[in-house]
Amino acid sequence: MSSMNDGPTILIVEDEPEIRRFLRISLVNHGYQLFETPKGEEGLTLLAEKKPDLVILDLGLPDLDGVTFTQRAREWTQVPIIVLSARSMEKDKIEALEAGADDYVTKPFGILELLARIKVAFRHREKNTATEEPVFVSGELQVDLAKRTVHLKGEEVHLTPIEHQILNMLVKNADRVVTQQVLLREIWGPGHAKQGHYLRVYLGQLRQKLEEQPARPKYLITEPGVGYRLRVVENDKKS
Ligand code: CA
Repeated sequence: MSSMNDGPTILIVEDEPEIRRFLRISLVNHGYQLFETPKGEEGLTLLAEKKPDLVILDLGLPDLDGVTFTQRAREWTQVPIIVLSARSMEKDKIEALEAGADDYVTKPFGILELLARIKVAFRHREKNTATEEPVFVSGELQVDLAKRTVHLKGEEVHLTPIEHQILNMLVKNADRVVTQQVLLREIWGPGHAKQGHYLRVYLGQLRQKLEEQPARPKYLITEPGVGYRLRVVENDKKS
C-alpha cells in the first residue's frame, strides 16, 4: 500500500479521446485511479483483470455497444456501471439500465454531476452489502419501510397500496433512476410494460401528497423518457 494513490479504481470505456482526457484530468484530481480503453472488448478484459471499483461506459463504442457490454459484465460482476449517453441514444440508455447499469449521465455533462453519480453508485453498493436501513429520510420526508408509514414534516400521510409500492421501489433505489418499465413490471406485472400513463397518474397523486409544490417537485423527479428518481435532500437547515 505504498503507492502514491490508493483511491478507488475506475475503468473508463470511451472512444472519444477528448472525453477520456477530460475524465482523466478530473477524476485523477479527485483521487481516483484509472484504467481506460476506447474499445468494449478490451474493456471487458480489463474489467476481469483489474477488477475496478466502478465502470464509466460510453454507449456508442466502435466495436461493441454499451448494452452488450453491460449484459456481458452482469453475467459475472455487480460492479457499479455508469453509462455516458448522447441525446440520440435514449433507447440504448434505457436498455443499458434494464441490462443492469446503475445510472447514466447525458452528454454533455459537468464533472460535478458525474462525481455525484459516482458517489451515489458507491453508496448504494455499500448499502447492498450492509444491513438495510428500514427508515429512509430525505428533507422533510420520512418513509418507514418496515412499518409501511410515510411522514411529511412529522405528519403521517396516507397512501394507497399502489402509491406505497411505487414509493418503496423509489426509496430502495434512492437517488438513482428507476425506469418506467421496471416500475410497471414490478407493480402491475410483465404485461403492462408499455402503460406509462398509469405511472404518470400515480406519480401525480404522490406529488399532491408529498410535495409542497407538486408542479415543481423536490423529491419525486421525472427523468424525461426514462423514468423517475427519488431525490435525497440533505437536512442542512437546522433552525
Ligand atoms: Ca462514442
